[in-house]
Amino acid sequence: MTTVALKDVTKVFKDGTLAVDKVNLDVTDGEFMVLLGPSGCGKSTVLRMVAGLEDPTSGAVLLNGELANDLPPRERGVAMVFQDFALYPHMSVNENIAFPLRLAGLEPDRRGERVADVASALGIGDVLARKPSQLSGGQRQRVAMGRAIVRRPGLFLMDEPLSNLDSGLRAELRAEISGLTRELGVTTVYVTHDQAEALTMADRVAIMRKGVLQDVGTPTQVYGRPATLYVAAFLGSPRMNLLEASVYVHLDRYVTLTLGEQALYLPWNDIRTRAVAHYHGERIVVGMRAEALTPVSPDSPGDVLQGRIRYLEHHGHESLAFLDIGATAVVVDEMGSGPVETPESGQRGLRRFGQVMQRFAGRSGGE
Ligand code: ATP
Repeated sequence: MTTVALKDVTKVFKDGTLAVDKVNLDVTDGEFMVLLGPSGCGKSTVLRMVAGLEDPTSGAVLLNGELANDLPPRERGVAMVFQDFALYPHMSVNENIAFPLRLAGLEPDRRGERVADVASALGIGDVLARKPSQLSGGQRQRVAMGRAIVRRPGLFLMDEPLSNLDSGLRAELRAEISGLTRELGVTTVYVTHDQAEALTMADRVAIMRKGVLQDVGTPTQVYGRPATLYVAAFLGSPRMNLLEASVYVHLDRYVTLTLGEQALYLPWNDIRTRAVAHYHGERIVVGMRAEALTPVSPDSPGDVLQGRIRYLEHHGHESLAFLDIGATAVVVDEMGSGPVETPESGQRGLRRFGQVMQRFAGRSGGE
């Protein structure tokens, strides 16, 4: 069993770069935790500190509840997989996978058994005699995984292991990797800047920006209820509609949200209404996902926001409409409730606002 805990972990490099800023994170036993964020946000540095390849400037790294700051990498029970696979070119696949076992002093017979087991689990049993140069990218990455698994580590650390592969293979391998780590029950910390990878593979995702941890939660939580405006804007494609609105609470218990020239009436008996009521008299940012907006014809009755279609984008499985609603633009999944015939005027109504305010991400301009 392996758990990881980071307590106020900070890393300042010698040149003064603040790469990781007071990060607190708990990874539970057997969990698949993905560190997600743009290039340079500090995710690899966090991983390297867990591996013992980098020392924290301050704060504590705990493995299984014990302070590990001074523990050498070899004694941490971790196996790392990197994006460049880092295989030994002069060794066969068999020798590459067996290498950590040889270092650990395991006798040849036992090594052979363990390598055969791992190779068959990864579907590379038929290429054991080849050299890395004779393998495809996907096979190379499987060998790298095999070399990590064969030691039966308590913790896998993976740094963008799929980023050198083409997109079809990436999708295939991400299912394999998450399936395999779950089967083995090994705690995994996986670094990527690819949100599709993060959202599909993770038990929980930790999102970083400029060294600071922004949000931690299940893919559903961080997607649906992002903790900060940054996460709201960062996650999802198309990006979440983020609109500035003024909140006014009426004494006879309803709320109006003013978005540019238009006002929305929100009945009191909706919990989201109560959430905004808190911001009476203020300007806030309202987040709505494209798929949560229902396009309707502009003269539909009820509380309908009016917009003008700028353009449509067809993606096969969905069609996105980009609309101007007053001064701002929103994007809507046109297929959400079946396509609506586009009137000559290009006008479109948007409904279901009661259900679309998934998150009031923060006050206007703040994060
Ligand atoms: P990427 O996805 O591009 O690998 P990352 O999120 O993993 O990015 P890190 O590699 O952790 O980011 O780097 C975080 C910051 O620390 C960056 O600004 C980087 O330039 C800086 N950095 C990393 N290693 C060093 C080092 N040895 N010395 C100085 N600065 C460093």
